[in-house]
This record gives sequence, C-alpha cells and structure tokens, in this order.
Amino acid sequence: MIDSAFKFCPDCATALTRRIAGDRERSACPACGWVHWDNPTPVVAAVIELDGQVLLARNAAWPQGMFALVTGFLERDESPADAVMREVREETSLEPLAAHLIGVYDFARRNQVIIGYHVPARGEVRLSEELAEVKLIAPEKVRPWPVATGLAMADWLRARDLPVHFLDLPSR
Ligand SMILES: [Zn+2]
Repeated sequence: MIDSAFKFCPDCATALTRRIAGDRERSACPACGWVHWDNPTPVVAAVIELDGQVLLARNAAWPQGMFALVTGFLERDESPADAVMREVREETSLEPLAAHLIGVYDFARRNQVIIGYHVPARGEVRLSEELAEVKLIAPEKVRPWPVATGLAMADWLRARDLPVHFLDLPSR
C-alpha cells in the first residue's frame, strides 16, 4: 500500500522522502521528522431499525440498486455513539432512540475502521442531499455485503438468530 496523499510536509513544507518508520517504508519529512503514518479513519455505520424493518440507503453517487448502511465520519470531540446518532438524524431526519454497539470491522481497501451500531429510530424519513433513496426491508430479507459495513449487518442478523446470506462482491 503506497501512502501517496502527501508530497510535502504539512508541518514545514519540505519535500517528503521515503524511509523506514515502524514496520514499513513511509513518506517522511527529512527536515522536521514528520511521518505520514496513514492510520485508518474510523467510520460509524448504522443498522437503522424502523417499525421492525431495516433502513438501507443509496448514496446519491451510487448506481441504481446499490444500498448500504448509513455511515459517516466522527467530528472532533464526538463519541462514536453520538456520531452515529447524528448521522441518522442528518441523513434521514429520523429520531434515533439509542446506539447499541454491534462490533468493529476493518475495511482495509479504503483504509477505514467501521464501528457498527444498531440504531432503533422513529419518525418520518426525509432524505438529505447525500442520499438518493432509502428502502425499508424485513431483517430476514437483508443480504449484506461480505465486507466492511456488511459484516456489522451480518452480526446484527446473527444476534437475532437470523440466517446470513451474503451478496456476491462484484468482480473488478
Ligand atoms: Zn517537516
């Protein structure tokens, strides 16, 4: 994995070079010692439960038929549980009633760590600009992706003694 996001040191603007830091070669600043550690970013994901159904959302940038959990990044000084409830409010206008941790999952391809929550909610859905559409689906009919947020979905289904039928990942 090449961490090429930076060409110049964000602290002192010196051109970065490659050197061994920790267990691998990374971009680092020869002047001030800054290292691009490229740590994964935490992302919160919500299994939103509304009237006994699971809400799945299609991002405005995604193709037809592609649905997933509502996700988002944490604000500074915000707890993951607060962040996931804020995202539910912002993206769907639903009122989140709680945030129950499902589990934590790696998503190496996007250098993220997924923190999955079950968020029971109530109210009327009104979409934010980020979402194109949502669908409500009975839990036993959900078919999760076998990666990332899909693993949180699968663990939530298993905790309810429901069988898990993963979707096939599109090959590319
Ligand atoms: Zn520097």
